[in-house]
Amino acid sequence: MLFRLKELLEENFEEVSRIQTQEHGKTIDESRGETRRGIENVEVACGIPTLMQGNYSEDIATGIDEWVIPTPLGVFGIIGPFNFPFMIPLWSAPYAVATGNCIVVKPSSEVPNSQAKLTELAEEAGFPPGVWNVVHGGKTVVNGMLDHADIVGITFVGSTPTAKDVIYPRCGATGKRVIAQGGAKNFMVIMPDCNVERTIAAMMTSFFGNTGQRCWAGANLLIVGQDDSFYNNFLDRITGAASNIRIGYGLDESVQMGPLRDAAKKERIISYIESGIREGAKLRLDGRKNIKIIGDYPETCFLGSTIFENVTPEMKIGSEEIFGPVMSVMRVTSLDEAIEVCNANPFGNGQAIFTSDGKSAREFQYSVTSGNVGINVGIVAPMAFFPFSGMKDSFFGILHTQGREAVRFFTESKVVIQRWL
Ligand code: NAD
Repeated sequence: MLFRLKELLEENFEEVSRIQTQEHGKTIDESRGETRRGIENVEVACGIPTLMQGNYSEDIATGIDEWVIPTPLGVFGIIGPFNFPFMIPLWSAPYAVATGNCIVVKPSSEVPNSQAKLTELAEEAGFPPGVWNVVHGGKTVVNGMLDHADIVGITFVGSTPTAKDVIYPRCGATGKRVIAQGGAKNFMVIMPDCNVERTIAAMMTSFFGNTGQRCWAGANLLIVGQDDSFYNNFLDRITGAASNIRIGYGLDESVQMGPLRDAAKKERIISYIESGIREGAKLRLDGRKNIKIIGDYPETCFLGSTIFENVTPEMKIGSEEIFGPVMSVMRVTSLDEAIEVCNANPFGNGQAIFTSDGKSAREFQYSVTSGNVGINVGIVAPMAFFPFSGMKDSFFGILHTQGREAVRFFTESKVVIQRWL
């Protein structure tokens, strides 16, 4: 059935991608990327016999053999956020059903359509009625799932307040397994020995891709060293590139950045921009004015890319998740100081370093308290066969979604101890 689902997703690739752009606003190319990453999880789960291979030992002396049978648990709830409506439930769904469980997917009520389509395709692929379900709604539905005695576990992806204060404690109280992935404030650490051209290209997608609504996106740019000419050149080039991003309707193939999901989200981001100004950061590029929209559309949900300089980690724009196309630039003198600043932040989703020096990269990967670490990679999102990790206020639980860890989460290890008398 998963093989058939993969085929159906390939056949419906453009339609599924189009739905995401229409419900979310992201560009059609970003939606295609999201569809592809979602399908990757179906592909990995197609290899479930290998993923489920267990432990076995035989003791010839005593005649005792032991092995583990990974056993399904029942019904799992899968709760998604608004920013990756199609892909994120697929971090869990294919592994849950491949290991023999049933699922109830609850997409964000802001973007319900691509999951509705996915559920139809799952039905067409042959999953029996009741195995792959979707339910729509907001808090009330989530509360119903959290309290439901037949739901044995929850995977959740969304903001930290929901993950930390609602999902994680309620699952503990009701005895459910839980993976709760929260928000982020990711640092991109720029060493003076980086490849400037490639780093700037990576920063464009990292900070402004998906209109900044990405949990593994860059939020703070940390430039290391005291070389003013490096700093000025880097910022000039990044500002030039950011101010030329083509904004518009996501289904227009020439557009590079779509609108925010809704006007309330834009207002929230603007309030962060205002707070940055109040707290004394220097507004180098103002996305409220830098809106060059392709086509004849009102500005309602569009916001241009924004760059702040002289940001400190204590400022709201330097410490809180903005979740929009806003880059906060900070300067530090050394890699040690950069690592200290990264680690002082309460989130631990993704941090990245840009350097041509292996020693700095090694030091960074071992010292930084972040679940996903990028080395010359600005979007720290692991492939489907790796766990999607997270630390501190970005993650609540033990096992992670995707790949082998998801298989462990969705199964109980039954251990058989055998002796033939
Ligand atoms: P959100 O927390 O508002 O909503 C997520 C889900 O929880 C939705 O389905 C929503 O209906 C439900 N929900 C919201 N408030 C609730 C409440 N009080 N009680 C019960 N259910 C509730 O998050 P969002 O705005 O949809 O998504 C954006 C957030 O998700 C950002 O913080 C982003 O960083 C995070 N995110 C994290 C990852 C990750 O891998 N760590 C990935 C993507 C997004």
